[in-house]
Amino acid sequence: MFQKIALIGIGLIGSSIARAVRQKNLAGTVAISTRRAETLEEARALDLGDVYSLDAAEAVRGADLVILCTPVGSYEAIAKSIAGSLSPGAILTDVGSVKAHVHRVVGPVVPDGVHFVPGHPMAGTEHSGPAAGFPELFTNRWCILTPEPAQSRAAVERVVAFWKALGSNVEIMDAEHHDLVVAITSHVPHLIAYNIVGTAEDLETVTQSEVIKFSAGGFRDFTRIAASDPVMWRDVFLTNREAVLEMLGRFLEDLSMLQRAVRMGDGPALEALFTRTRAIRRSIIDAGQETAAPDFGRPHKPTGS
Ligand code: NAP
Repeated sequence: MFQKIALIGIGLIGSSIARAVRQKNLAGTVAISTRRAETLEEARALDLGDVYSLDAAEAVRGADLVILCTPVGSYEAIAKSIAGSLSPGAILTDVGSVKAHVHRVVGPVVPDGVHFVPGHPMAGTEHSGPAAGFPELFTNRWCILTPEPAQSRAAVERVVAFWKALGSNVEIMDAEHHDLVVAITSHVPHLIAYNIVGTAEDLETVTQSEVIKFSAGGFRDFTRIAASDPVMWRDVFLTNREAVLEMLGRFLEDLSMLQRAVRMGDGPALEALFTRTRAIRRSIIDAGQETAAPDFGRPHKPTGS
């Protein structure tokens, strides 16, 4: 499908792409570049690519597909450092969780003749680094692409075909709209999880050991999200500020109404909301985006003999 794919960043997402590309034979050569020598050595030991370099500009030379797989806050510096080495006709894409910012900081640096097709695979886990990746990560997940309307159709179609080959469904939308969608489906939920876990940690009347011991009451599910990579998520909130604040404002208004319903003992209001939200969970399961197994399929049988 491509002669040479260059992956800049080889953490959870980059290494999952590398594994899937090799498994499905989508590139003649996979070039890997990352910032730290230890990470590059880890990628080499895991046999994730064909050529390895600490110099991103060297990695992208001769590549017909370049994928930025680093935290969004690092994009501008990386884009400037590779711009002069991108081949004419190459496609530059990315996997960043925020898109309008990426258009703003990377778009102006992309040389004429290079096709810029930003993307965001809606797939991930709370783990980081090259060992955390797996080739099925993108299977049956959505990947959103946000090219400018004037972008070459052929280049966009090649990126669509690439993600479909990795098992994803693909949707194309405007970068600002993408940022609003993910603000409510991903960014605000992460902020809420970071907040509730932080609040529980600060409590004095209920001890931390009690919070941990009795976590299965719901708290545990927030801790999985709140274990996500701190640098990646710092960058998400620094670069998707407007959309997050817009959705957070709505969330806080609705939370105030819920607080009032609890204070007033308004059972019908509480039950009506909880019935609506239960239906949303069912739709997500029906859409194949979540398991129907109770308690996320966690084992409840006694372990050991
Ligand atoms: P990760 O596992 O933490 O890996 C990050 C990679 O980026 C590592 O190779 C790291 O290199 C490199 N890196 C970090 N800071 C850098 C900097 N300042 N300059 C150059 N390289 C740097 O992260 P990830 O989860 O794969 O996330 C990568 C991208 O995917 C992010 O933009 C994120 O928004 C997006 N994304 C993540 C998820 C998710 O659930 N994790 C889902 C969808 C999209 P060293 O180890 O060499 O420092």
